[in-house]
Parts: sequence; structure tokens; C-alpha cells
Amino acid sequence: MSLQHSVSQTLFDTARTRIPGGVNSPVRAFNSVGGTPAFVNSAKDAYLYDADGNEYVDLVCSWGPALLGHARQEVVEAVQQAAARGLSFGAASAPEVDLASLVIDRLNSVVPGAIDMVRMVSTGTEATMTAIRLARGVTGREKIIKFAGCYHGHVDSLLSEAGSGVATLALPGSAGVTASTAAETIVLPYNDIDAVRAAFEAHPGEIAAIITEAAPCNMGVVTPAPGYNKALHDIAHEHGALLIFDEVLTGFRVSPAGYWGKFAPVDADENGTTWVPDIFTFGKVIGGGMPIAALAGKKHIMEQLAPTGPVYQAGTLSGNPLSVAAGITTLSLADEGVYERLDQRSAKLQARISEELTRAGVDHSIQSAGNLFSVAFGTSEHGVHNYEDIKASATERYTAFFHAMLDAGVYLPPSAFEAWFLSDKHDDAAMERIYAALPAAAQAAASV
Ligand SMILES: *Cc1c(COP(=O)(O)O)cnc(C)c1O
Repeated sequence: MSLQHSVSQTLFDTARTRIPGGVNSPVRAFNSVGGTPAFVNSAKDAYLYDADGNEYVDLVCSWGPALLGHARQEVVEAVQQAAARGLSFGAASAPEVDLASLVIDRLNSVVPGAIDMVRMVSTGTEATMTAIRLARGVTGREKIIKFAGCYHGHVDSLLSEAGSGVATLALPGSAGVTASTAAETIVLPYNDIDAVRAAFEAHPGEIAAIITEAAPCNMGVVTPAPGYNKALHDIAHEHGALLIFDEVLTGFRVSPAGYWGKFAPVDADENGTTWVPDIFTFGKVIGGGMPIAALAGKKHIMEQLAPTGPVYQAGTLSGNPLSVAAGITTLSLADEGVYERLDQRSAKLQARISEELTRAGVDHSIQSAGNLFSVAFGTSEHGVHNYEDIKASATERYTAFFHAMLDAGVYLPPSAFEAWFLSDKHDDAAMERIYAALPAAAQAAASV
């Protein structure tokens, strides 16, 4: 039995005449999996409701922000109260300091003094764009190292081999990026420390920063090899460069202090000292569904930003009071228990998926980063360690799996190059619906 999508189809047909591709962000168009993209009317807890009246268990969670579940009552009320006080001031306000303090306290509870300051912006793209400008301003150097398959937003110089959206559309990078801009970026394979050393040797004194996802989640999830992130930090510092740790997706999602907070203590030396990135970027969960993002670091770096320093950055809607209210409430409610529950549910779901795929004889592997994970088909022999591995996977099996799950009322990421997201509202009832849909989806993946 197939779900009806006729209302969404009509909306999509009209949308395509008014909005390029009918969508305001490419992955929403379902180009990679085909079929009619769901036009969503509303979302509550673990569920999405589309224009045809279909209900789905949502495993996208707005690409991460809905950590506490959709339309969490306390968050909605905080936004409503903030809205009644004014939508935007274009001036400083006290709650911005409260949100900065929440972020600082979470990171400093892992390593005292890890960060001193936070600058708020409106999107993850702005956060990474500012972070690389800041790194260049601080070091007086121009080149940036990024890794193939890592996505850092649609910043011109960071679009080379940028994973998910770009990969789904099979673009090498993006039209409209100048050759001189692209030439400032050195693209290296992920999980290959020797390539990083070689790049620094080939470009002495030229590299301002390494930018990396804390754990790549935009080429599907890829687990950093043990010690990999620490090695990036150490090599960057050996050569006078900075490490920009992009936690736009993982930040406040995989632990109270993000991926770094969960995994950096593992790298601590005998004195308990561990590494700290020079600049963190945050987005997604930090706003609980409202547009806000941030960069953070130590005072001597962050004060290089205007108005204290020479690196210019500004934003009319930066630190927007509605977004800040949503962020404060989300972070205040996301206690240790939330992360423990997500970890448990995620581990169980991964096990169930593997069980059903194995039963149906489907070759696969599951990559995880804390509670985030993704399923890659045809990869059991070597797993997935970099962009080449995921590009060589059997994505046509994902398409079949995706549509079978969708038909059973489970909304997976509409691309094999994306992570799966759970929320605190994925209770037993929601999880049972996912489990119930798995056998038929595994069969569908097997039959391709
Ligand atoms: C989503 C994402 C971005 C971009 O954030 P936007 O708010 O979409 O601009 C940057 N980096 C990572 C790792 C992301 O997942």
C-alpha cells in the first residue's frame, strides 16, 4: 500500500514555477532518491505531517535542530514571549550574554578555559565563513585545508568536494566560484594524516587553518580514526596554523559539549590535559530550530573580530531575540539524560537495522559518531573512511530502502550522503514504528 502524495505533488509543480527547483535548499527536492518531496504542514515531537495528511516518524529532525522533538512546548512558549517583546532590536540585549555563557560553560566544563568568547551569527555558513576570515586575519596567511566530503556551508572557498548536497547533484564544486578563490583551498582526503603533513611541507608558511567537521556527517557519517582530530590540531600548531573545528551539526547534539566534549578527553595525556581547537563553529541545535549560529574561541583570537579587532564581521539579525530565546531554552532543557537516552536509542536502532539487512542478505556497514549514524550499502568489506568510499557505495539500494520506509510512514534523509537524526521525543511508540518498517525496507534494498 502506497501513501498518497497528490497534494504535495501539486504544490511541488507550482513551487517549481516560482522557486528554483521548488525548494529553498537543494536536498529537499528529493533529487537523489526521486519521487515527490513531502510538503510539510506541521511537526510535533517525533512526527512530521505533510500536506496529504500523512504522518511520518521523522529521522531528519530539521537536520539536527529538533534535538528535543519538534515544537517542544517550552521552546515554543519562550519564542512566543520573546516575540511579544519585539522581533528584532538592532541593539545589544541581555539574553545574548546568557546564551554565550551557556555555550562557554558547557565547553569549559570539559576543559577549564577551553573558550572565552562567542560571536553569534544567523547561519552555519556565516559561522564558517567568519571563522576562516578570522584565521586568515590572525595568521596573515591565505590558504585553507579542507577535507573531501566535509561540508561547511555554501562558502565559496569551501565548496570544493563539499559532500551531501553537492555530491547528490554530482557537481565537482559549484559554478560561480572563481578559480582564484578555489585555489586558496587545499582539498585532502579525510582520515589521511600523511596527506596533511605533506600539504604543510609543500606550502610552508602559507596555510592559515585546517577546517574539519568534528566528525564528518555530510558524506553520510564517517568516524574519525582514533587520534585523528588531535593529530590535526598538533600538526596545525607545529606549523603556526589554526584548527577550525566545525561543530555546526555535532555541537550540542552528540553530548552537552558536542563531539569535542565527548571525544577529546579520550586523547588526554597523563596530566589529564587535552587539545582544544582554536575556533569552534556551532549552528543547528544551538537555535533549537530558529536561525542562529556561532563561532567561539579564546579571547586573544575572538577579540581580533570587530569592534575590538581588525577582522570585520557584522549582522543585522545577529543575536536575534527569538533565536536566542529558542537557543537558551533548548540548551537549558538538554541535560545529560537527553544525551544518554539518544545514545541508547541510536545504538538499538543501529543494531535493529543491521539485523534486518543481514537477514535479507544486504551487504552494508553502519558508521556512527555518538548518536549520529548512517547506513552505507555494499561497504561491509572495508567500511567507510572517506569520501571515495561512500561515493563507491551502492546508493541505488539506499533509494529502494528510503522509499519503502517512506511508504511505511518513516521519513529518512532523502540522500545516502546524510546522517540520521533522533530526538528526545522518539519514544518507544515511535521507535516501534521504525522497527516495524525495517523488514520490508531491507527486502526492498535486497531486490535492487
Ligand atoms: C549544516 C552545516 C553547515 C551550514 O550551516 P547552515 O546553517 O546550513 O548555513 C556548516 N557546517 C556543517 C558541518 C553543517 O552540517
